[in-house]
Amino acid sequence: MKPLDDRTTTAMARVKQSRTAPEQRVATALRDLGLAYRRNVKTLPGKPDFANRSRGWAVLVHGCFWHQHDCKRGTMPSHNRAEWESKFARNRQRDAEVSARLTDSGLRVVTVWECETKDSVALKKLLGTYLE
Ligand SMILES: [Zn+2]
Repeated sequence: MKPLDDRTTTAMARVKQSRTAPEQRVATALRDLGLAYRRNVKTLPGKPDFANRSRGWAVLVHGCFWHQHDCKRGTMPSHNRAEWESKFARNRQRDAEVSARLTDSGLRVVTVWECETKDSVALKKLLGTYLE
């Protein structure tokens, strides 16, 4: 395999990190709440990060940067701005479509932002409010 250039490697590392750590914190919170779930449910629209079909819910975990949350991590890079803007617009469009399709499937959809997973007590409260 050809080695990736530094910039690609750094970007990939960031994607991986921003995807897995918040999802892991959500998994822990769901377990603590005694809520059963399946991960990356392929049979549901958008392959939601967590779902429990019989209980009627899906949880989407969004990285603040990639999904452009209205927080300090959701910043627009100044370099190649036009490309980032169109990429983020596509992400947002896709998020909206997935959420609508899950709702159409009769599920309650909870979107958890990366920054909301930092405080485990607040995270459990948030998930408990919507899912219990
Ligand atoms: Zn955020």
